[in-house]
Amino acid sequence: MATDEERTKTLDHMITSLVIGDYEITAVLDGPSVPRDPAMVFPDVPPEAWDPYRSIALTADDKWHPDWRGHLIRATNGKEPTILVDAGMGDVVNEHTGEPGKLLQNLVALGVQPKDVDVVVTTHCHGDHIGWNVTYDGDTPRLTFPNATHWIASRDWEYYSKPENENPPFDKSVKPLEALGALKLITGVEQIAPGISTLPTNGHTPGHQCVLIESGGTTGVITGDLFHSVAQVTEQNWCPTFDWNTAMSTQSRKSLLMLASTQKWIVLTGHLATGSSIGKVVSEGGKSEWKPL
Ligand SMILES: [Zn+2]
Repeated sequence: MATDEERTKTLDHMITSLVIGDYEITAVLDGPSVPRDPAMVFPDVPPEAWDPYRSIALTADDKWHPDWRGHLIRATNGKEPTILVDAGMGDVVNEHTGEPGKLLQNLVALGVQPKDVDVVVTTHCHGDHIGWNVTYDGDTPRLTFPNATHWIASRDWEYYSKPENENPPFDKSVKPLEALGALKLITGVEQIAPGISTLPTNGHTPGHQCVLIESGGTTGVITGDLFHSVAQVTEQNWCPTFDWNTAMSTQSRKSLLMLASTQKWIVLTGHLATGSSIGKVVSEGGKSEWKPL
């Protein structure tokens, strides 16, 4: 067992922040998720297929245990908007940790108050990406980031607005944005700031999107839920039960991972473990692998 001191030392060497051209991008933890049986999350993957990936993709007791996080994008010249990509699980108490999410505290520790966030981009409208959008005062929703505009893919908005596609976290954390005057619906590729744009990668949800950062000759991509396990970088056909349309999500995953590999993009993931959540996709002999930075 590592001592606390050793653990802190290890954390110091883990990459959670990096500069791409004019922007600094920082992974901001909301909290660890609840550990789950991989057979429940990836029902089509037989248990033995996990064997080559157990040490990198599962916990010591064979659980799938992703983190919940957002990504903060700040311009190094301080001139462009402060952007938050995804807003974690929010203030609900996590049954694993017994605590609410810590995204706001972790932003403050980075010197960012809620009022400083200008844009919140939602990769997709699932509960673990929208949790902090609004905070409730009794039954009254209030904007957590009072000056931010929330960029939501119109395909997700239209889909989850239909009563037959019930999604309580959407009703709680996205729907109120309209009446609060903070909603911006977007379609396709939209520029958020110079060099920063949305990139539709539909399938996990109808409107799932990544965020591209192209600056100073380097490209980074924030991938949301394009993949949920480091094993899926190699096993690109594996889909979790959360994927809305697995044919579409697989196609989006393969296309983006191919681009990331051939173009040597920096990949910032929504759910891989803190410390190895930022990396590159390295392909050799038809096989792709995750290489953390
Ligand atoms: Zn997610």
